[in-house]
Order: sequence, then C-alpha cells, then structure tokens
Amino acid sequence: MTAKIIDGRAIAEQVREEVKEEVAELTSKYGMPPGLEVILIGDDPASAIYVRNKGKHSEKVGIRSKTHHLPATVTTEEVLDLIDKLNADETVHGMLVQLPVPDQVDEKALQRRISPAKDVDGLNPVNIGLLSLGEDCLVPATPSGIIDMLEREGHPVYGQNVTIVGRSNIVGKPFYMLCIRGHGTPTICHTRTRDLAAETRRADILVAAVGVPEMIKADMVKPGAVVVDVGTSRVDDPSVERGWRWSGDVAFDEVKEVAAAITPVPGGVGPLTIAWLLKNSTKAARRLMSGEVKA
Ligand code: NAP
Repeated sequence: MTAKIIDGRAIAEQVREEVKEEVAELTSKYGMPPGLEVILIGDDPASAIYVRNKGKHSEKVGIRSKTHHLPATVTTEEVLDLIDKLNADETVHGMLVQLPVPDQVDEKALQRRISPAKDVDGLNPVNIGLLSLGEDCLVPATPSGIIDMLEREGHPVYGQNVTIVGRSNIVGKPFYMLCIRGHGTPTICHTRTRDLAAETRRADILVAAVGVPEMIKADMVKPGAVVVDVGTSRVDDPSVERGWRWSGDVAFDEVKEVAAAITPVPGGVGPLTIAWLLKNSTKAARRLMSGEVKA
C-alpha cells in the first residue's frame, strides 16, 4: 500500500478562503474588521518569522493585525499592563503572546490575564476547562486544524482508536479532548509510556507531536492507518544546498508504504495551524461583536 499524501497547503487555502468570506461579512455588518494583536518579546529569529507570517496571512484575509514588539528585558508586570490595555480595547478581538518568552517573564501569568474571549491560542485555563467540559470555547489552532483536516479527508475520529504521542498543552492534550468530543477513543503517550510501539500499532489514526525526528517507524504503524505528523525539527543535511531540512516525527519514506494516508513535513500540519489561528480570530470577533461574550 502506498499512502495518500495529505496536502495541508491546499486544505489551509480552503480554510483561508472560508475565513476571508466570514471576515468580509463581519466587517460589513459591524463596521470594523476583526483585530488580532500579537505580543512578541525579544529577538528570537524563529519567533519573528512566525509572527511576520501570522501578520501577513491575517492581512490577506482582511483581519487587521498589529505586533507589539517588546524588548527581551521586559518584566512580567509590563507585559500584563499591555494585556490589560488590549483586553479593554474594543477594536482588539484576539491576542496572543508568541512563545517562548524570556525566563524572567511568567508565561502562565500572561496566559491567565488574556481575556478568555480574546484568547485565540486557547491557553487560558478558562478555555482549557471549557474544552474539557465539551463546551464552546477557543481551542488551540493546531489540534483544531488536525480534526478539521481529518474530517475533510474523510477520516473523522468518530469510533476510531486514536493514539497521540506527546502530551503538550498546545497539541497533545487539547487534541485528546477534541477526540473525545468527536467520539473517538484516544490514548495519549509520552516518555513514560511502557510499550510505545504497542500503543501506536493499535491506532486507526496516529498523531505524532513529539519533536524527535523520524522516531515513528513503519513497524510501529498498523497497516491502513492514517498518520498525522505534527513534529517540526531542523536537522542537518549536507545533501541540500542550505545544509539543513525540516524533519517530522515520522519516518515518512517507510511509513507511507504502510499507512492509508499521511501528512508530509513540511506542507502538512504546519499550514493548517496559521489558517486555524485566523479561524479562531474570526470566531472571537464574531462572539464579541455580536455581544454573545464579553471581554
Ligand atoms: P513538547 O512540549 O515539545 O513536548 C513533547 C512531548 O513529546 C512530551 O509530552 C514528551 O513526553 C513527548 N516525548 C518526547 N520524547 C518522547 C519519546 N521518545 N517517546 C514518547 N514521547 C516522547 O510538544 P509540542 O510543543 O507539542 O511540540 C512537539 C513537536 O511538534 C515539535 O517538533 C514542535 O515543533 C511541533 N509543533 C508543530 C506545530 C505545527 O504547527 N506544525 C505546532 C506545535 C508544535 P513527556 O511529557 O513525558 O516529556
């Protein structure tokens, strides 16, 4: 069997088109576009690129975007003051703090201070609690994008054994909760899992969000499974001109011979994440503009 390669870029394009239409509708109905504001702290080059991409894609769909670039020496209190201002600003419907933040800044305090109504990264404990309760809320973009991609590709989690490798707050845990919501049967694995291969081999849908290049081998995958690779690691590769390439958590060349469908890296889950950040920003704007929720 050779797997279908799932085209994350094409799906992301569809999602962005849907967002664009919704943004146009909201802008004409409420007289202002959704506003997304990003707090970037310090000079990490990768973070700067991510933030630039978020801004570029926001503008393309009609979302007003702004970046607040704070120095690496900023204090937690100073960032909290900015968050308070953005919470009170009616033209701001979504905000996020680009991670990671410098050591002296209390990341958890920032996430707790962002109004749950504007928390487009879905990391405020209120949103995490609502997700656990199965109630409407803002959910982290990557797991939302994966659930949506599986549905669009005809592989919903409904009734399926789903194994997730990785228990981060941003991917693994919220994906677990979304699986339950979608009537899947999830298992979550991590570094203390006793027999990882036994757990991954049970999966009809296998999601790897680990950050260890190519750790999921063909003999860890059930024939006919759907494999979703979230991992994004930079690995040295002298055979390519720039000397490095992106690697996923899945040994793509061998696993594609076993799986029914697989996402590549790059071009799989990555593009879906930004598209779903835009979707979350639009959802936050709709709920705030309509008065359904208050900041
Ligand atoms: P993370 O916070 O880096 O945590 C990694 C998780 O993997 C932890 O739960 C860890 O277990 C588990 N793990 C590590 N080594 C393992 C092993 N050998 N066997 C089993 N489990 C193992 O996770 P993350 O932030 O979700 O990131 C994971 C990867 O996804 C990274 O490569 C990241 O760059 C990528 N990512 C991509 C996107 C995207 O849009 N494409 C978005 C987010 C993340 P413990 O909890 O026991 O330590």
